[in-house]
Amino acid sequence: MPTQNRDKSDKFRNLPLSTSGPLECALKGTVLLNHAYFNKGSAFSKEERRDFELAGLLPQNIQTLDQQVQRAYEQYSARPDDLAKNTFLSSLKDQSDVLYFKLLLDNLDEMFSVVYTPTEGEAIRNYSRLFRRPQGIFLNIHDIDRVHHDLSLWGTADDIDYIIVTDGEEILGIGDQGCGGILISMAKLILMTVCAGIHPNRVLPVVLDCGTDNEALLEDPLYLGLRERRVRGEQYDKLVETFVRSARGLYPKACIHFEDFGFYNARRLLDRWRPEIACFNDDVQGTGCVTLAAITAGLHVSKQKLSDLRMVVFGAGTAGVGIADQVRDAIETERGVSKEEAAKHIWLIDKPGLLTTQVEELSDAQKTYARSDWNGPKTDLLAVVKEVRPNVLIGTSTVPKSFTEDIVRAMAEHVDRPIILPLSNPTRLHEAVPADLFSWTDGRALVATGSPFKPVKGAWGPDGAEVEIEVAECNNSVVFPGIGLGAVLSRASLVTDKMLVAAVRGVAELSPALRDNTAPLLPGVDVVRKVSVRVARNVIQAAVEEGVATEDGIPTNDDDLEEWIRKQMWDPVYRPLQYVEARGATRLARGEMRVVGSIPERA
Ligand code: NAD
Repeated sequence: MPTQNRDKSDKFRNLPLSTSGPLECALKGTVLLNHAYFNKGSAFSKEERRDFELAGLLPQNIQTLDQQVQRAYEQYSARPDDLAKNTFLSSLKDQSDVLYFKLLLDNLDEMFSVVYTPTEGEAIRNYSRLFRRPQGIFLNIHDIDRVHHDLSLWGTADDIDYIIVTDGEEILGIGDQGCGGILISMAKLILMTVCAGIHPNRVLPVVLDCGTDNEALLEDPLYLGLRERRVRGEQYDKLVETFVRSARGLYPKACIHFEDFGFYNARRLLDRWRPEIACFNDDVQGTGCVTLAAITAGLHVSKQKLSDLRMVVFGAGTAGVGIADQVRDAIETERGVSKEEAAKHIWLIDKPGLLTTQVEELSDAQKTYARSDWNGPKTDLLAVVKEVRPNVLIGTSTVPKSFTEDIVRAMAEHVDRPIILPLSNPTRLHEAVPADLFSWTDGRALVATGSPFKPVKGAWGPDGAEVEIEVAECNNSVVFPGIGLGAVLSRASLVTDKMLVAAVRGVAELSPALRDNTAPLLPGVDVVRKVSVRVARNVIQAAVEEGVATEDGIPTNDDDLEEWIRKQMWDPVYRPLQYVEARGATRLARGEMRVVGSIPERA
């Protein structure tokens, strides 16, 4: 190994979250085999089998992690459908974190949609029917006095890095799922580990059970949450406030991630807490960031700058306004103009047509973009495209086929490389499909979509040669895990706009389209760990510049910083176990730090 590398590894060996070397463990026998963080199953070595009293509890043949992965993959493949595969993976996770995450990482392309959308949506919809054992933390709106105590059971001030909380009101496009929302907190935490190496035993999945307005759940005798209509207003706010203050007080190092709250609460809670604590909302900010990354890459390819942007957003809901905000903040940072000035690059359309100052009942978030300068007689999408001549068109309306041939051709008339992002999910709701967008623009459109699409072939190369264009999926998972990792490792006191803009730059820099015209606009999940390191690096550097990084000893040069980040990412490898007496052992060694799955009996 070159000296330089050895020096680097030595330099970062003793970091607090470093994951090399032996692991202390105070558990033995069946308790150890039932503890997913320590369990290695057939991979326990001869010495470990002796020291931990496992010899008679395991078949004789000692196997490697790769052999275990092979077996688990065969078992997974034998499951008849995706929901059964999802259930299989959940139970594998209860057996061994390392095996579970290794299987997932080795097959991420194939398994991503099974552990996340769309299959996880099915699992959540069926939560009360598939339920076997509780996972995560359930906080009851009628028991606010218990919140602090219930949260305090999960560790000491240093033990938790990342908390994901939902109230289950607007899950993955399938609406109100009540307490089943716990599974979205779990699933997103799994992505944090897979995509960014957040330690799986230093996280908390939380659901705030405030009731549900889902009639089917209210009538279902097997429904496991509060069977009553959602409690809103003052009591709701009190629960959220108590949760946030308790979580911050108990785990001051943790970043809080709000997930799948309803439209009304998502932005309101983010705006309420952002100035005070390190927090993040993936539906609002993550979507904005990944879309901005696709736009930035598209502008690079078409040799334009953000200051050239003229963006029309069709569907001004949570995602549409979140994207607009992210783009506006980036223009503000890049051009050094006010938010109001930056917002002039953006036109929002919703059910009433273009949002102008004449339109009544706009939300506060939408009002920022209401145009006072509109003179056109009509405000529908075609009229707006003809008048505005946008270079970017975003679809977040859930209205299928709304980007018609007329509209796309009108846009392509004035722009060499129109950037068109139909993002509505699932696939049947897309505003247009890539094949049509390429066909209507002679292959000139730069496209990213909300769901995966196969590459599209057409005679759009030089001299009419056939080319195959790959379509990027605007998948939040290439950005939010890296943002979380950056916030955690720098122990950021806030997650600022500049940190998010830096994250976007990190993803855009790795866009395959920058090197190859027919490659996708965004990097895919197959390289997500590499992307997360770059995103985290940029986020940490921005946090330092903004004065919100509280961690000591953050390296200043790019290479060292990336090495420092990688050293603290959790990898699914079996570390040698070292037996320690329970008395005096750390909570981790006593197996008490595990929320994802059951809590073992205290040793
Ligand atoms: P939302 O319900 O908050 O927003 C949808 C908006 O579209 C609403 O404001 C609605 O009034 C508007 N709309 C409906 N019909 C319209 C019409 N005929 N004309 C104009 N506007 C109309 O939902 P959301 O959370 O913002 O999500 C929107 C879509 O974006 C969903 O399909 C979601 O799956 C998708 N999405 C994709 C990504 C991604 O690709 N990374 C991320 C987030 C959301």
